[in-house]
Amino acid sequence: MTPEITVVEVGPRDGLQNEASFVPTEAKVAFIDALSEAGFPVIECTSFVSPRAVPKLADAEEVMRRIHRRAGTRYLVLVPNERGLERALSAGCDAVALFAAASEAFSRANLKAPIDDTLVRYASVAAEARAAGCWIRGYVSVAFHCPYSGPVPLEQVVRIARRLQDFGCDEIAIADTIGTATPDEVARLLDELLRWIPVGKLALHLHDTYGRALENVSVALSFGIRTFDSATGGLGGCPFAPGAPGNLATETLLAFLDARGLRHGIDERKVTAAWQQLRQTVPELGTQRPSRTAQRPAE
Ligand code: MG
Repeated sequence: MTPEITVVEVGPRDGLQNEASFVPTEAKVAFIDALSEAGFPVIECTSFVSPRAVPKLADAEEVMRRIHRRAGTRYLVLVPNERGLERALSAGCDAVALFAAASEAFSRANLKAPIDDTLVRYASVAAEARAAGCWIRGYVSVAFHCPYSGPVPLEQVVRIARRLQDFGCDEIAIADTIGTATPDEVARLLDELLRWIPVGKLALHLHDTYGRALENVSVALSFGIRTFDSATGGLGGCPFAPGAPGNLATETLLAFLDARGLRHGIDERKVTAAWQQLRQTVPELGTQRPSRTAQRPAE
């Protein structure tokens, strides 16, 4: 049966980038292979950023060369610029993500450029990626609150999402980067976005910092959103709230979908196995913020 919900596993990239420990290349490859085996339709694997900027993902080429690609899984990688895209293409990637921010302060702090400069750059990266036949995801990060400048105006999020759509992005992922969005805020934003972007093109990237991620998933489901990001074991934490949960844990999301009878096509036991295998190599991962279901024993 065709899954009703697309779960995008972001643990290997968003998760591991924000963990304190470096995960050896071999363990990253084994983790991604185990996630493929679990049946995820999309896995965000790594980022082709400068190895100096993000040393934890400096092995992007090797990871992408060594993983086993399963038919039916899309292997997504972040590309910050044309150089990143070239590297990704040489490593055999065919799905790339562009990462924009909806807050000027966040864009300058994390992407080292004003929002509009990043958009100009992404327009040409997206054109090249399209010409190379890539599938493209565009992120609008800090779509609700910015850790530096507070509430983010809804119009700003809509403006950036529409630009990303104009560049030819196949999917626009709206990210609650610090996990502060309330169900009302999610409803207000989706209501506006859906005037401009088809519902099938939108994805939600939620963090569980304040325990509201699943409530927000519920609201999004009622708007017809069917694509959600999550990270196995809740990997990644929240850099702006030390000790708090970060990315919505995949195990938590899957249990929530199961309870509502929504098909996702992922084998939870294999997700647990993937997590335990990773923890055997790097035991300190995720220990500061156990998700509600990530620690259950393998069956
Ligand atoms: Mg995240």
